[in-house]
Amino acid sequence: MTINTYQTNIIKKENLNIDTLYFQLKKPANYDFKPGQFLQIFFENLKRSYSIFSKPSDETIDLCIKCLAGGEASEIFKNITVGENIKISDPMGHFIINEDDVERTYVATGSGIAPIVSMLRTSLEDYAHKSKIYLLFGIRYEEDIFYIKELEELSNKYTNFSFDFTLSRPSENWKGNTGRVSAHLPSKITDKKNNQFYLCGSPDMVKDIRKLLIDSDVDMKNIKFEIF
Ligand SMILES: Cc1cc2nc3c(=O)[nH]c(=O)nc-3n(C[C@H](O)[C@H](O)[C@H](O)COP(=O)(O)OP(=O)(O)OC[C@H]3O[C@@H](n4cnc5c(N)ncnc54)[C@H](O)[C@@H]3O)c2cc1C
Repeated sequence: MTINTYQTNIIKKENLNIDTLYFQLKKPANYDFKPGQFLQIFFENLKRSYSIFSKPSDETIDLCIKCLAGGEASEIFKNITVGENIKISDPMGHFIINEDDVERTYVATGSGIAPIVSMLRTSLEDYAHKSKIYLLFGIRYEEDIFYIKELEELSNKYTNFSFDFTLSRPSENWKGNTGRVSAHLPSKITDKKNNQFYLCGSPDMVKDIRKLLIDSDVDMKNIKFEIF
């Protein structure tokens, strides 16, 4: 299969937290993708996949990239600057939503929020879905918190959308939810039959949550996941 590639350039680079970067790329003409898809970025001798954080109707392609200590691409992203060119692939992947207005439950950890933000915003802002949408977002430390203000704005504007976030390694002063997403999910699932589940994050989280859902009689065909 031939993969089309595009030269684009970086128009914005910001820190979302201490090690997570937000990039805005110029969108090539006719670059169509589905909410939840990812693209590949090509460097010399190196290729990595990144989910698209923006929604298809946005004018730019946005990415949310966690820089791993010693990671090859991470080091490049830390040093890359606005205006530099970057080579990307066509959008790829089947971790997507369609226009069906059905109940959906999302579980994300860390930068696993990237494809889910694209799905949530498309569903609420563009498809005008009215079914219940719930997001459970797991973050490690207080200083890692990002994108919560934007999620609060979405939940204030769209009454069918609600979310919780939980810190797995909080300080003793933290007053919000603590523990892993697996500790909070069971009490949040109201409908197991007519609910589509989307999981994105570390292999361990996806494995645990899939098991938890399957053990709770959720049909496997209603569980979609992407592992980073
Ligand atoms: C479909 C898909 C979508 C993705 N979307 C996103 C996204 O939206 N955002 C995001 O942040 N990530 C995403 N990822 C992950 C991303 O593709 C990269 O894997 C990630 O950025 C790390 O790449 P890297 O080159 O920086 O690290 P790598 O060089 O691949 O290293 C990974 C880790 O292993 C360690 N390591 C490397 N070599 C060794 C060694 N010899 N011994 C011990 N440790 C070692 C590194 O220090 C680092 O911590 C996605 C992955 C997939 C498959």
